[in-house]
Amino acid sequence: MKQGQGLPVFKGVAIGPAVVYRKSERIQPVACSNPEAEQKKFDDARETARQQLQNLYDRAVAQLGEDQAAIIEVQMLMLDDLDYLDAVSAAIADGAAAATAALDCGEEFAQFFAALDDEYMKARSADIRDLSQRIYDILCGNTGFQLPEGSFLLVAEDLAPSETIQLPRERILAFITRQGSSSSHTAILARTLNIPSLVQADIELDDAENCSVLAVDGFTGNWYADPDEQTMTMLKTKQAEAAADCAALEAYRGRESVTKSGKKVLLCANIGCPEDAEAAVAADAEGVGLMRSEFLYLGRDTLPTEDELFEAYKKVGQIMGERPVVIRTLDIGADKQVSYMGLEHEENPALGLRGLRICLTREDIFRPQLRAIYRASAYGNLSIMFPMVASVWELKKAKALCAQIQQELIAEGLPVREVPIGVMVETPAAAVLAHELAKEAAFFSVGTNDLTQYTLAVDRQNAKLGDFYDPYHPALMALLAHIAKSANEAGIWAGICGELGADPKLTETFIKMGYTELSMAPGRVLETRRLVCESEV
Ligand code: PEP
Ligand code: MG
Repeated sequence: MKQGQGLPVFKGVAIGPAVVYRKSERIQPVACSNPEAEQKKFDDARETARQQLQNLYDRAVAQLGEDQAAIIEVQMLMLDDLDYLDAVSAAIADGAAAATAALDCGEEFAQFFAALDDEYMKARSADIRDLSQRIYDILCGNTGFQLPEGSFLLVAEDLAPSETIQLPRERILAFITRQGSSSSHTAILARTLNIPSLVQADIELDDAENCSVLAVDGFTGNWYADPDEQTMTMLKTKQAEAAADCAALEAYRGRESVTKSGKKVLLCANIGCPEDAEAAVAADAEGVGLMRSEFLYLGRDTLPTEDELFEAYKKVGQIMGERPVVIRTLDIGADKQVSYMGLEHEENPALGLRGLRICLTREDIFRPQLRAIYRASAYGNLSIMFPMVASVWELKKAKALCAQIQQELIAEGLPVREVPIGVMVETPAAAVLAHELAKEAAFFSVGTNDLTQYTLAVDRQNAKLGDFYDPYHPALMALLAHIAKSANEAGIWAGICGELGADPKLTETFIKMGYTELSMAPGRVLETRRLVCESEV
């Protein structure tokens, strides 16, 4: 048995086979002294890719029929595309390594296709990207991500949101990452999925790969590779106790979240996609306090269309019924990156073009989101919330576009409801100016993950700064008190939707400050309700 420690981000015990996710290592574009040898490597990799695609095609025809298999056929044809092949050969002749040439030329072609007006050609950009990644992986010896049948514990150096989005969530028993922080998006996903998880774990990827059973104790932060009998008995006992506690929480299902002195708090769920709304209902959440809409933009190659966004919001609205749903507009940037938006590389992305800043500079991206939300408003109790607001003018400008779009849709004869517009308070500027923003906003929801990062100037992603990322810091508490006071004085509601919303040490403090809504991972709702109902405040 090997064992070690990590930082637990969600409690529980998981035991099962391990799957290791290794990222493709990007080869540095070193000058290559032998172009003929590189060209030969590329030609061989192309043939291997052809063989792999042929196998995939045969399997797809057998399982899905010829129509569905045609997608693979398109990629096989692209393998012989002379423009692509010439571009790769030219890059190699210029000194690029075969792998770099395959990937970079593929990206160039993908961007070219994505910019075309023709929808069919646009869709080909994903194919060329996929194909060049395949050749690249062959050249780098990446065997890809082999998932076993059934459930597993996922071990990785780190996971980006664009990677987690592609995972079969229902089969993951736990996440263990060597990097990451408790407010990273992998940790957030683990809480949404209700699975025990560790970040900053001292596990070697090879050890995880070579063990037959891996176990995680999300209460203590311990991990065990091939646990011995005694450890296994201890873990199974803990698992049974956790299941019993879960059963005890059922007594709080369907109850109002109200303190002994009568203070009512709305306990809502944070979600990323329509399926999570089902988890929110199953968890007895009283609404959705934060829909991270950018998850609809991750793990794909083109912008979602207005209709796709509309369908997603409509579904969430319908699932939640009359329960309130707060949709945060796109918060791409920082750790959530998508290549197809053509955003420039930034030295300091957390302070860069992210959240509302992108929307205010790219109406082509903002407009479809707002139209989709207003169209979907007829199917649920929806609100809009803007992330990364720092100034009153930003809110006013965004609200003006909302009003314009609402009028447009009414003129088009579409049913549109009133949609409250609120601010996600997550920059120190917005917190300090809360009394001013409150004059323009229908509600506040505090993003404590970013508010902590920006107030303390501590990168929330940086594992080395864990001790400095102090969500109980007095400066943060002072801002939180000011935000709630400003909201109460202006007669609007204020909630917390960052990870602190589910922190049992702060539930009473938040209620005393005047917060009337807490939004959290669905799996935390019942235990927070128990705390609220047992509280004297
Ligand atoms: C936050 O910043 O607290 C928040 C809820 O948003 P995200 O974690 O998606 O940045
Ligand atoms: Mg945030």
